[in-house]
Amino acid sequence: MENKCLFCEVYKNKIGIIFENDQFYARLDRFPVSPKHALVIPKRHVVSFLELTKDEQHDLLPAIKETIRILENIDSKEFYEKIIRNPVNKKMETFCKKILSNPGLNKKPDGYNIGVNEGISAGQTIHHVHIQVIPRYIGDVADFVGGVRHVIPGMGNYR
Ligand SMILES: [Zn+2]
Repeated sequence: MENKCLFCEVYKNKIGIIFENDQFYARLDRFPVSPKHALVIPKRHVVSFLELTKDEQHDLLPAIKETIRILENIDSKEFYEKIIRNPVNKKMETFCKKILSNPGLNKKPDGYNIGVNEGISAGQTIHHVHIQVIPRYIGDVADFVGGVRHVIPGMGNYR
């Protein structure tokens, strides 16, 4: 474990963990993009997705699948309400409030974007690998074509 790593601390203190297997744990994101936005995180401190061991690679897909199965069956409203009562900062409060008024709240997601921000240029800000599982709901954005391609604004929809 590395000092002051958020995701090492979260696992050590078992904060809000919704799933774990041998190599990974999962939690809901505190700055949710969409209702039930979750993170799948290796228990070992490792910066890069490309440095996951064979054992971690083996456990990763089942961890993602199981996390999705769990988040499809949890009531997340209380989770976001709890954060709003004691947010770490204003942005966290704003994000969670937005989610509480999102029509997708506690609906079964219609789909998912599953992805990794690998490296600073790709948007990685916490230097401990985390796989984003972002539930998607029909109608949550005006233009859904291209999905993760929208990380470069204006280049998502190739039609
Ligand atoms: Zn760590």
